Amino acid sequence: MDFNLTQEQELLKETVRKFGETEIAPRIRDMIAKRRIPDEIKRKMANLGILGMTVPEEYGGMGADAFTTGIVAEEIGRADPTASIPVLFLVNNAWTYLISKYGTAELKEDLLPKVAKGKNFVGIASTEPNYGSDLGSMTSKAERGKNGFILSGEKSFISLVRDIAEAGGGYVTVLKTDSAKGTNGISLFFMPYVKEKMEITPIEEMGREGSSWGSFKFSGLEVGSENLLGELNKGFKIVHEGFEFARGLIAMISCGAANKSIENGVEYMKARKAFGKEIARYQGLQFDLANDVAKIESARNVSLKALWMYDLEQKGLKYSRFEVSKQIAIAKYTATTWAFDAINDALQWQGAYGYSKDCPEEWALRGIRSFMLAEGSREIMKMIIARETLGKEYIK
Ligand SMILES: Cc1cc2nc3c(=O)[nH]c(=O)nc-3n(C[C@H](O)[C@H](O)[C@H](O)COP(=O)(O)OP(=O)(O)OC[C@H]3O[C@@H](n4cnc5c(N)ncnc54)[C@H](O)[C@@H]3O)c2cc1C
Repeated sequence: MDFNLTQEQELLKETVRKFGETEIAPRIRDMIAKRRIPDEIKRKMANLGILGMTVPEEYGGMGADAFTTGIVAEEIGRADPTASIPVLFLVNNAWTYLISKYGTAELKEDLLPKVAKGKNFVGIASTEPNYGSDLGSMTSKAERGKNGFILSGEKSFISLVRDIAEAGGGYVTVLKTDSAKGTNGISLFFMPYVKEKMEITPIEEMGREGSSWGSFKFSGLEVGSENLLGELNKGFKIVHEGFEFARGLIAMISCGAANKSIENGVEYMKARKAFGKEIARYQGLQFDLANDVAKIESARNVSLKALWMYDLEQKGLKYSRFEVSKQIAIAKYTATTWAFDAINDALQWQGAYGYSKDCPEEWALRGIRSFMLAEGSREIMKMIIARETLGKEYIK
């Protein structure tokens, strides 16, 4: 196993680290106050090519693999403790990848160059008011129309609703195409944002102040057959390739955010005195720190391995879909849980200041908490790990 990054990956990582420190970090307070990601940050991320870094080179992107996208995700996680910019980054890149892989030539030619330039965004619309984890129970549907398909239904708790409404783009959307067939009657479509056909209801979030979140109803929204991703009724299988990419990125973002919080906590511990000496000298805090450092370093390695396995499986070189699902689930479960713990500890080390709205760990705690639910809950991660360890027959 080779743990070295290529020269290009090193350079990309350094560039994004610097970008995060000089362009993102100084604008976080402004983003929180205005509750939106500054347009300038979006523009600069687009100029760096990282908003659509998974777009193939022939459509103007970098054609980055999951591992390389993960390295950048970690840096974006470090830079924005609220997790708002990381969400834009991860959702856009993971779900654009799925379009690049399964989209028709017509759809890709139309959409991908705009995503590569940061002019359009791509989201995921799976969850509905009455279902989240249980994909087979969804009711939103796509029916055959004269010129393709007619989409109708309702999707809830969807990230990037305002960003997509403002910039343009749309959603990889999970829809029923055969209501009698459960998960074998699900297909994936690219549903463009169409103002007249989509009624958005914003939802206020616990954290992620710069992000946008909401539900939308859609009816009579017509798309051509070129918007179908992969084969009809095969969406259940395909959508998991997108979820897994997104989960791997979430794991790396969580590790990046946690390491930054640990650094903040260490700095504070070394400066703050109690009972005559720096609090960093107390073993009670040192042991917490050691636990967090060890857990995040482990989760980071597991996450990098998961993304590396994902790439090999996608190229058809090694590993089955199930092996990848398990490793990705381990990565998302450990990284999000341990990152939350580490951030919570770093907040604690900073005493009362840690609980104030001024402290980045207060922002991070609420932001990173979302990742125990988004793109597959903590319990679903455990179910995957258990299923792939015990065998399918033990999960029911
Ligand atoms: C910040 C945020 C952003 C999101 N963005 C998007 C988005 O962009 N697009 C999108 O489609 N969705 C999005 N979601 C929704 C997310 O994917 C769902 O919250 C998640 O899949 C869980 O679904 P649910 O909320 O309906 O919970 P449910 O599936 O109803 O589950 C409720 C609880 O029961 C647990 N549970 C369910 N089944 C089992 C079981 N068999 N065994 C044990 N426990 C179980 C769950 O883990 C959860 O804790 C987002 C959610 C959040 C919080």
